[in-house]
Amino acid sequence: MLLIPCPHCGPRNQEEFAYERTLDSVVRLDDAPDVALSALYTRANLRGDDHEIWTHAQGCGQWLRLTRHRMTHAIHSVEPL
Ligand SMILES: [Zn+2]
Repeated sequence: MLLIPCPHCGPRNQEEFAYERTLDSVVRLDDAPDVALSALYTRANLRGDDHEIWTHAQGCGQWLRLTRHRMTHAIHSVEPL
């Protein structure tokens, strides 16, 4: 379980949040479908920080940009998106 520090509500249980996706998985809608899918499935999965999009679904409802380490799950920053 993660304790996510929502900038609006303070530290809350992960169960209140909905994970949406990583920022690098967001593709442009005007890209050709094969280009968009290729970019999505050929992303590097390196150690280090990942930038993710979450929503505080059972709290303030805000969209958040969360920086989290891929191996340790340590959260380094949370900011409104
Ligand atoms: Zn919140």
